[in-house]
Amino acid sequence: SSVIYVAARIAPLGAKHLLLLVDDQTQGRRVEETRRDFVANVSHELKTPVGGISLLAEAVMDAKDDPEAVDRFARRMQGEAVRLSSLIKEIVELSRLQGTPVLQDPQIVEVEDVVALALEHLRIAAEAKNITLTDKVAEDLYVRGDEDMLITAVRNLVGNAISYSDPDTAVGVGARLHEGTVEIAVTDQGPGIPEHEQTRIFERFYRLDMARSRSTGGTGLGLSIVKHICANHGGDVQVWSDGAHGSTFTIRLPVAVDPLEPDGPMTTIP
Ligand code: ADP
Repeated sequence: SSVIYVAARIAPLGAKHLLLLVDDQTQGRRVEETRRDFVANVSHELKTPVGGISLLAEAVMDAKDDPEAVDRFARRMQGEAVRLSSLIKEIVELSRLQGTPVLQDPQIVEVEDVVALALEHLRIAAEAKNITLTDKVAEDLYVRGDEDMLITAVRNLVGNAISYSDPDTAVGVGARLHEGTVEIAVTDQGPGIPEHEQTRIFERFYRLDMARSRSTGGTGLGLSIVKHICANHGGDVQVWSDGAHGSTFTIRLPVAVDPLEPDGPMTTIP
């Protein structure tokens, strides 16, 4: 095959190069498998809202003489279309993240700004459920990376916390420097996540409770996107929950130093 052909061509280069090449091929195949899985999942997931829209269109045609029913079906159709559009947006986002695991143009980003911008559009959603949204972010905390991506990561976590919590509860966002690492934690008083599900929820398209998750209009991609963003930034994301009393999601990122104040975040002034 092509491996043997190429191997013969580079044989004079020595065994080390050959091993590197074979390893590269295995990795290439793995990437290809992941890509194929992803495409299969994507087409499966897209079929649900598209099928819904098509059924609702039929219902509209059958209900021509009942304007109230037409209105009802048309609104549901619009809902499915909105779901479809957010699904497409997240699929594009995730495939972009998977395709370029290295950050293109990392900048020094202040964590306070990331949290403030992430919460901006979520305050309305929190208010609608009478959820108290608080944030406590240490000043002069910097990371190296892509501000928009980091905002997306925090926004996905806080968005989930709001979606999966009951009304009249509280969601808190905190950021601090802990053992040389920047920690951004999002805590809620929602239903929690059972231990055996805690790694699976980060898989793409995985939802804990299909019925509950679907009624929140989720795509099952949010946490997978968070995981990839953290990995691209040399960090990670973890969840803590006893499966009954809320959840805490923590993003951990390497700390960066403010270029204008090189001693910035690491100085401990008494
Ligand atoms: P979705 O779009 O369904 O929210 P995510 O990837 O963001 O997809 O989350 C995957 C699943 O993890 C959700 O469907 C939900 O079941 C569960 N989940 C995520 N965040 C929370 C949370 N804060 N509390 C309880 N369950 C959660």
